Amino acid sequence: MVDVHLVNVTKRFGRTVAVDHVTLDVEDGEFIVLLGPSGCGKTTTLRIIAGLEKPDEGRVLFGDRDVTRLPPRERNISMVFQSYAVWPHMRVRDNIAFPLRIRRLPQEEIERRVRWAAELLRIEDLLDRYPGQLSGGQRQRVAVARAIVVEPDVLLMDEPLSNLDALLRVRMRSELKKLQRKLGVTTIYVTHDQVEAMTMGDRIAVMNQGRIEQVGTPDEVYNRPRNIFVAGFIGSPQMNMWKARVNKLEGTLLLEAEGLTLRLPAGRLRGLEAYTGREVVVGVRPEHLVPVELLPAGARPGNTVEGTVEFVEALGSDTIVHLSTPTATLLVKAPGTYRPSLGSRIRVAVEDRHIHVFDPGTGERIE
Ligand code: ATP
Repeated sequence: MVDVHLVNVTKRFGRTVAVDHVTLDVEDGEFIVLLGPSGCGKTTTLRIIAGLEKPDEGRVLFGDRDVTRLPPRERNISMVFQSYAVWPHMRVRDNIAFPLRIRRLPQEEIERRVRWAAELLRIEDLLDRYPGQLSGGQRQRVAVARAIVVEPDVLLMDEPLSNLDALLRVRMRSELKKLQRKLGVTTIYVTHDQVEAMTMGDRIAVMNQGRIEQVGTPDEVYNRPRNIFVAGFIGSPQMNMWKARVNKLEGTLLLEAEGLTLRLPAGRLRGLEAYTGREVVVGVRPEHLVPVELLPAGARPGNTVEGTVEFVEALGSDTIVHLSTPTATLLVKAPGTYRPSLGSRIRVAVEDRHIHVFDPGTGERIE
């Protein structure tokens, strides 16, 4: 096992800057997820760590060993891809043994390790089949077994669950995570699926246009997104955002927007006072807008805003209410039993700690 460091790594393809001065420290044994929209540079970053791409600038370190110029085979890494990349003409047993044969391990050791990996992935009964005789989920297990059988220092996975159906994906998510914990192998996992990122990662690096926007635990990126991009990318439905003008009234800062004014005690967000007289972007997640009628009896509602019910999405476990206000249509995520009628007026409450404020110019969070 090893810790991995990217230091100021840049990779260009012609005029495209695929990876733009990325610096990232991954701890020994950590499961880190590179998350971002299509084309943001996740795969290229992973391929640079693997040694499949050479960066134009910057360095890659495994521990204190500079591996920037080393080929993949000298890095002791394993990769798992979305397309399982198992060899169709080899039985499962030989697929898993293949990287060990290349390393010329003794036959006994190969057999021992194949058994170990197959047991971990619960595919002991499939060892004599060919990949064509397996389901997609089983094939992906073979690919993972083949990756871990060499006991890599670093395990790299690129959207390994994307080809599986929804149910299997959920199951494999927790299985892969448990396996990684058990092995303690440093793991870097690429996905554009925020649920995968939130449920699997010890930390998430959110990428956008070749850059890392924020690195943090799932809680950190969710509850304290560093900027508008992260706030909007993480969370479903998306965070509600609207523009408001900051005004000061005695001990209170007003975030003024037509029909959507919120009040915060001055000092609640220390950086906000400097914005008095200026515009900011206010953000509140749909699940943090609570219909007042659902608040526990006696609860102090804090800020409330009123709107007209424009549309109701009944999703079973949740109800998403589209609430129209003069400034913006807000999405409200309420329990599935909540069914306001279309056209009715409802009032929703938000606690101060759930109000996010961003600088509209830089997009940065105001603390
Ligand atoms: P996806 O989720 O769609 O796989 P990604 O975040 O993994 O996207 P990359 O595959 O790293 O993104 O691509 C980043 C940028 O670099 C994109 O604009 C892509 O078109 C470009 N790119 C990647 N590989 C090459 C290549 N070999 N030649 C030219 N451009 C490339």
